[in-house]
Amino acid sequence: MTETVTNWAGNITYTAKELHRPHSLDALRALVAESARVRVLGSGHSFNEIAEPGPEGVLLSLAELPSRVDVDTAARTVRAGGGVRYAELARVVHGHRLALPNMASLPHISVAGSVATGTHGSGVTNGSLAAPVREVELVTADGETLLIGREDARFGGAVTSLGALGVVTALTLALEPAFEVEQHVFTELPLERLEFETIAAMAYSVSLFTDWAAPGFRQVWLKRRTDQPLPGFPWAAPATEKMHPVPGMPAVNCTDQFGVPGPWHERLPHFRAEFTPSSGAELQSEYLLPRPYAMDALRALDAIRTTVAPVLQTCEVRTVAADEQWLSPSYGRETVALHFTWVEDTAAVLPVVRRVEEALEGLEARPHWGKVFTMPAEVLRERYPRIGDFRELAQSLDPGGKFANAYVRDFINPLS
Ligand SMILES: Cc1cc2nc3c(=O)[nH]c(=O)nc-3n(C[C@H](O)[C@H](O)[C@H](O)COP(=O)(O)OP(=O)(O)OC[C@H]3O[C@@H](n4cnc5c(N)ncnc54)[C@H](O)[C@@H]3O)c2cc1C
Repeated sequence: MTETVTNWAGNITYTAKELHRPHSLDALRALVAESARVRVLGSGHSFNEIAEPGPEGVLLSLAELPSRVDVDTAARTVRAGGGVRYAELARVVHGHRLALPNMASLPHISVAGSVATGTHGSGVTNGSLAAPVREVELVTADGETLLIGREDARFGGAVTSLGALGVVTALTLALEPAFEVEQHVFTELPLERLEFETIAAMAYSVSLFTDWAAPGFRQVWLKRRTDQPLPGFPWAAPATEKMHPVPGMPAVNCTDQFGVPGPWHERLPHFRAEFTPSSGAELQSEYLLPRPYAMDALRALDAIRTTVAPVLQTCEVRTVAADEQWLSPSYGRETVALHFTWVEDTAAVLPVVRRVEEALEGLEARPHWGKVFTMPAEVLRERYPRIGDFRELAQSLDPGGKFANAYVRDFINPLS
């Protein structure tokens, strides 16, 4: 490539031989048909080589395609082009007084890239961001367009697909009537006072944050829908100033707190669309476990907190409802998600990531596909009961392995 292309965090520099930004779907189809190896780069917010096509491959950005967000108010659905980001989607959807059920911590990420990796927000009744997807439009290896809807037996593999089936050129998502949310932040909840199941279900979306400097949580964020009751929170004191999840970071780029109601898309993310998200200089890891293991997992992390804390910016605990995407880290199980925002130092962070994985052994952790992890592919394969179905689907749509980069090949097709 003539230009240097990195992911958002800057820890991955793509080695692809070419980067293309097609201006039309026809140009995209032609490029896919004539290329031997292809991967799409979404908004580049993954922290590993999931989007890397390899030095012989083509990296495809959809950023220059006409950006389409079409709402069907009668059907209560939205059809979004493959390069669209949540901030743009949410603005249009909200303009029709409709809403998505949930969002991730920031709205800057692409919809197609997010659902491809099982990206999620929080809430015991909220599935991953893939849950509202109703139809996927793909350009497959031969350059042809394929639609896969929910009634299709292949749908379970089609949304959280790790980019291994083709180029997603559009997604149709189900919507609901717009709703308002208010955020309430509480501080200093000791681990021994944590009634996890009760607290996780106290609001529509709940996040707990800790720096693991002490056994407990620095902050608890409750995102309450204003059409649902506001329970008391006897376990910790309300925050007296606006908080950022990373201690010491200015909270100006965070969405409004102190119970000020606002539209769903301006409260469900932690970070505001108009600001650079998070701290910028960071790496991330995340492990998704069956929710009944939450307290065991938190105690296991507490036991290694003096190892974790020196390279940690913040650790966030969220919940995700079970879903039906075969490769979703929340597939088939009510989930607790343990997220780590690390310092921007791969050499210092990797040994700690390994320690975290050891600490969580026996708790059936599945790593987030878009973040840093060291678990070997054979362990991952054991954690995904439908891996065989996904392998068959990938082989039927992409028999030559055009979209199978090293990352997914290791996991899906270890022998090819
Ligand atoms: C600051 C920050 C905050 C985050 N917060 C959260 C969070 O709250 N919850 C959470 O679960 N995760 C979170 N993440 C992780 C992030 O959501 C995932 O890494 C997600 O995949 C990012 O989407 P992207 O388009 O940027 O992905 P990319 O890294 O660009 O791509 C991810 C994968 O999707 C594929 N892909 C992208 N677009 C297409 C397409 N059109 N067709 C086919 N394949 C495609 C790529 O090939 C790649 O395999 C966060 C990341 C950052 C940097």
